[in-house]
Amino acid sequence: MAALGCQQEKPLVPVHFQGEAQGTYYALTYYDAQHRNLQPAVDSLLRAFDLEASLWVEQSTLSQINRNDTSYSLGPHMQEMLQLSLRIARESQGAFDITVGPLVNAWGFGFREGRKPQQATIDSLLQLTGAGRFRVEGDKVVKSDARVELDLNAIAQGYSVDLLGAFLEEQGIQNFLVDIGGEVLARGKKADGSDWRVGIERPAESPDAPRELQDVVRLTDLAMATSGSYRKFYEQDGVKYSHTIDPATGYPVTHRLLSASVMAGSVALADAYATVLMVLGPEKAKAFILGRKDLEAYLIFTNEDGAYETWVSPGLEQQIVQDTQ
Ligand code: ADP
Ligand code: MG
Repeated sequence: MAALGCQQEKPLVPVHFQGEAQGTYYALTYYDAQHRNLQPAVDSLLRAFDLEASLWVEQSTLSQINRNDTSYSLGPHMQEMLQLSLRIARESQGAFDITVGPLVNAWGFGFREGRKPQQATIDSLLQLTGAGRFRVEGDKVVKSDARVELDLNAIAQGYSVDLLGAFLEEQGIQNFLVDIGGEVLARGKKADGSDWRVGIERPAESPDAPRELQDVVRLTDLAMATSGSYRKFYEQDGVKYSHTIDPATGYPVTHRLLSASVMAGSVALADAYATVLMVLGPEKAKAFILGRKDLEAYLIFTNEDGAYETWVSPGLEQQIVQDTQ
C-alpha cells in the first residue's frame, strides 16, 4: 500500500444541496476539491433570474412587458430566450408559441382556477396569439397589440438550469448535476468514474401520486427536460385538459402523449422542444425527432387499449440503463 503523502488529494466527496425555486425544487450535486458551499450564490442567481423572466414576480422584466410598462431594458438572458423562442416557433411551425399567455390564463392555468372558457373568448384571444405578434427592437419588445402577453414558462426553467451550469463551470467545477423540477444538466462524471443517472418518471394517475420511475438514463454531458400532461391538468366533464396549449386551436392538448423527455445541446432547448412534442402528439413527435440529429427523445403515451407505451429515439437507446430496480 502506498504511503499517503501530504500532497495526496483527499477523496472527492460530492457537495449536495437543495432548495426551492420557481414553484418547484432545485437540487445540485458537484465535486469540488475545495468543497465550497455555493448555495447562497445559487439562490441569488435564481432570484436575479426571476426578476427577469418570472410571470409571478410583479417587478420582473416579463411582467413589465406584459403590462406595457416600458421602463425595463432587456438583459442578455431575456434577449437570448426571446431569440430562441422565435427560432423554435419557426422550426415547429408555430407549435411553440410564447404568446399563448392570454390563452393559458383564460383556461385558468396561470392565475385562475381551471374552467373551460367560451368559444368566443378563445377566438378573440387567438387574434393576440402567434410569434408574429411581437419582435425585439434593441432592448425592448414591440407588440402588435397592447394586449399581447408573453409567457416564458416553457423555456425559462430549462434556461435557468443552463445558467447554474455555467456558473459552476466559472467556479472551476467540471463534474456536476443540476436539477430544477426535473430539468437536468449533467457534466463530467461521478468521482468513481461512473456516469450520472437520471430517472424518467412514470406518468402518475393523479397530480399528487408519489413519483415512480419508468426508466433510468445515463447522462454524460447531457441536457434533458421533460414536459408532462399528467401532473398539471384539470378535469371537467371527464376530460383532462393539460397546461400545454395548441396555438393552432387555442385549446389545451388532449391527445395520448403523457410525457416527452428531450435531450438537446442545452436544457433551454430541451425544455422548449419537450413542449413542442407535447403539442405535436405522439406520431408527429416521433417524426420531428427522427428528422433532427441534434435531439433525442423518450416518449410515454397511451395506446388504443389505454396501456402505457414508450418510444425511445435510436440515438438514446444505449443510454437507457436496464436495471431500474
Ligand atoms: P412542464 O415542464 O411543467 O410540463 P412546459 O415546459 O411544457 O411545462 O411548459 C408549460 C408552460 O408553458 C405552460 O404552463 C404555459 O405557461 C406555457 N405554454 C403552454 N403552451 C405553450 C406552447 N404551445 N408554447 C410555448 N409555451 C406554452
Ligand atoms: Mg418546456
